[in-house]
Amino acid sequence: MKIGIVGGGLGGLLTGALLSKNHEVVIFEKLPFLGGRFTNLEYEGFQLTTGALHMIPHGDDGYLAQLLRKAGANVKIINSNPDGTFLINGKEYLYRDLFSLLGFKDKIKAITMSAKLKLGNVDKNISFGEFLEDVELALKIGNAFTGWALSLTAYETPMSEIIEIAKNYYKFGGPGIPIGGCKAVIDKLLRIIKTNNGKIIKEYEVKKIEIDEKAYIDDYEFDVVVSNISPIETQKICNIKFLKSKPKPSKGIKISIATKEGIIKHGGVLFTPECERINGLNQVTNVDKSLAPEGWHLVMTHQAQITNNVKKEIDLGLEDIDRLFKGKDYRILHIQSYRESWPVNHASNGTDIDNIVNDKLFLVGDGCKGRGGIEVEGIAMGVLKVVNYIEHLNKKMN
Ligand SMILES: Cc1cc2nc3c(=O)[nH]c(=O)nc-3n(C[C@H](O)[C@H](O)[C@H](O)COP(=O)(O)OP(=O)(O)OC[C@H]3O[C@@H](n4cnc5c(N)ncnc54)[C@H](O)[C@@H]3O)c2cc1C
Repeated sequence: MKIGIVGGGLGGLLTGALLSKNHEVVIFEKLPFLGGRFTNLEYEGFQLTTGALHMIPHGDDGYLAQLLRKAGANVKIINSNPDGTFLINGKEYLYRDLFSLLGFKDKIKAITMSAKLKLGNVDKNISFGEFLEDVELALKIGNAFTGWALSLTAYETPMSEIIEIAKNYYKFGGPGIPIGGCKAVIDKLLRIIKTNNGKIIKEYEVKKIEIDEKAYIDDYEFDVVVSNISPIETQKICNIKFLKSKPKPSKGIKISIATKEGIIKHGGVLFTPECERINGLNQVTNVDKSLAPEGWHLVMTHQAQITNNVKKEIDLGLEDIDRLFKGKDYRILHIQSYRESWPVNHASNGTDIDNIVNDKLFLVGDGCKGRGGIEVEGIAMGVLKVVNYIEHLNKKMN
């Protein structure tokens, strides 16, 4: 089949790598670089990123890692151990040790909540915040987790998504870091597309998608089109209107920090439930030293954007960082805010759009993640659905 892909982000490139084995693939990317919000941005020898914090939510065992292997992309992903710790009153705790911080009544409530979540025995129609609100510490922990992983508050996160996220967590475990960072993933996918004679056209902004007897990207004709530019942006340039509900993007702020001393001992996430804004941070150089100049660590913080006053949100994040690094030397390298046309997720979890529009138009990316799929894991779930559908379509046609 002749397949046109609009956008060379992780979603478009993963789809391209998988489909270019058996099909003629052309990818159109408006920017001069590929990888979208999932590639490295070199600055003073630090491998900063265009978006992601060099972290794959379910590490070497999750959906993305499995699809990379299926595509033949040999990326080394180091699973974090522990997955994360929680900073409470200046002390770090593992998840299981948090229960010891609670009084008798709250401990019973929290153990019951945890068991209910594991069994999926929860009211799916409430928010995660409502589920947790009886125990103050549980709500703070919940906010730190959803802010870090989904760029949402616990009250903005539907319980139905949390149940699916928990299932994936029990199945695959916690996060991992690809050696070489996000760009290592993108480079491997590009190599596969090139080897399979796929074509990539950079610095080309697609203005029109037309679905008729054939599928068109501007004047190029294809059998099917896969769009990686978000459901809303796709509909804006497409002749068919398919959005029945409006996905809600999620907004976030990332701050990259240079430190010689370091602040985290492990390769997982340090969740910060007591911060005003920062939800958590990682220190990726604990896993891959090449992500910073010799003798330095790269730390990245993430916070959900709570109000629309971006400057105030950044200032509150910086104040948190000052308190977290008290007595330690550190330097802010880069502050990035993600909203509007470049958000953290084009659809926040629970508002994702189906990947299959019809037999000629498909959507991939973080506006159409699979249920319970955190960030790139959700993208991989959506890509798998699209690739399987197109292969099935191809078989039917032949
Ligand atoms: C601060 C931050 C931290 C994050 N941290 C993590 C993390 O640690 N782990 C994780 O798993 N995920 C993380 N994410 C999420 C992850 O980075 C994104 O979900 C993912 O990179 C999105 O990929 P995508 O393919 O959907 O879209 P994009 O990366 O946005 O790709 C879309 C591409 O389409 C191109 N394009 C747009 N319009 C056109 C057009 N008209 N014509 C041609 N090309 C076009 C764009 O230039 C872009 O390259 C984070 C995101 C942010 C912002």
